[in-house]
Amino acid sequence: MTTPRVMRYRYAMTVAARAVAARIGQGLIQAAIDAVGQGEIGPLTLCHGGREARRVQVRIKPVATMTGPVRVHRLWYHCTSCKHGFAPLDSRLGVAGTMSPALIKCDFANRLG
Ligand SMILES: [Zn+2]
Repeated sequence: MTTPRVMRYRYAMTVAARAVAARIGQGLIQAAIDAVGQGEIGPLTLCHGGREARRVQVRIKPVATMTGPVRVHRLWYHCTSCKHGFAPLDSRLGVAGTMSPALIKCDFANRLG
């Protein structure tokens, strides 16, 4: 017989298990992102307009994932001709915005309904 007390216990255990699983997943995703590196392609590269862009700094971008937020350390390049900056790692990881590709798909699916 399932008593209210047992149901509350099961619910609490489920919530706790999900939190632990999310934390483990978040750590694994962070480790995978860290293992990719910062997107090093040398001190110079070409911008989208084909001009010379110079590496200027490392920028940290928070990215929301299915299991929680992670931080992406990316080399930032700047083109003085276009006055435009970019991080090549963003396109490599598919994180042009602040959501992971999987979270974008989930968000899009939820919007469809
Ligand atoms: Zn440019």
